[in-house]
Amino acid sequence: MGKAKFIIVLLGPPGVGKGTQGQRWANEKGWRYAATGDLLREAVRQGTPVSLKAKAFMDKGELVADEVVTAIVEEVLQKADRPLLLDGYPRTIAQAEALTEIAKRLGWKIQAAVLLHANDDELVERLSARRVCPSCGTIYNLRYQPPKDNEHCDRCGSPLIQRDDDKHDVIRQRLAVYQAQTQPVIDYYQGLGLLVTVDALGEPDEVYVRLRKVRLSV
Ligand code: AMP
Repeated sequence: MGKAKFIIVLLGPPGVGKGTQGQRWANEKGWRYAATGDLLREAVRQGTPVSLKAKAFMDKGELVADEVVTAIVEEVLQKADRPLLLDGYPRTIAQAEALTEIAKRLGWKIQAAVLLHANDDELVERLSARRVCPSCGTIYNLRYQPPKDNEHCDRCGSPLIQRDDDKHDVIRQRLAVYQAQTQPVIDYYQGLGLLVTVDALGEPDEVYVRLRKVRLSV
């Protein structure tokens, strides 16, 4: 069999569990997992010129320019040598159209767009309780998946941090941006017949059971 070049797009509001669920699913399936938020934060840490501009938007909970993020994703697609789970992209119609074009040009198929769904109150609660490990990327939730001592990463021992944009005011802004800009992306994939919705309410393990039942026909 040749290299399977297909993309699963993981959609859903901030805090719904895209990172946690997406990493787990990709690991189990042997897919490459790529989250544009992670890639942008990594670029900011490295201080690349483009990322300095991006950081101002990220800190406010607003979207980074389509061209910037699309260029990152195009590079990922050029390098990936196995199926790809894309988390956090596309977030606008312009990005969705760009992805369709790039995928076609580079010989990738968009296999499905999987939407994780939960209501706003739940999302705010989850995001304020989220902590991340700046070293190895492990995600914790003080309510659902607390680290053993509440402050350090169970895997690598680094002190956990709260993302700047997980503070209360910025969370509301991110949810508003999602409603305005990303909701149409859901309709876009619905129109292409690629949308699958998964209920993301409940414990991470329960959600994962639902997620891995999604039929992909690949
Ligand atoms: P996330 O980790 O997915 O919540 O992303 C964190 C921040 O990175 C977002 O609030 C945006 O500022 C930026 N970002 C991530 N992905 C995208 C994207 N596809 N388009 C524009 N901005 C993005």
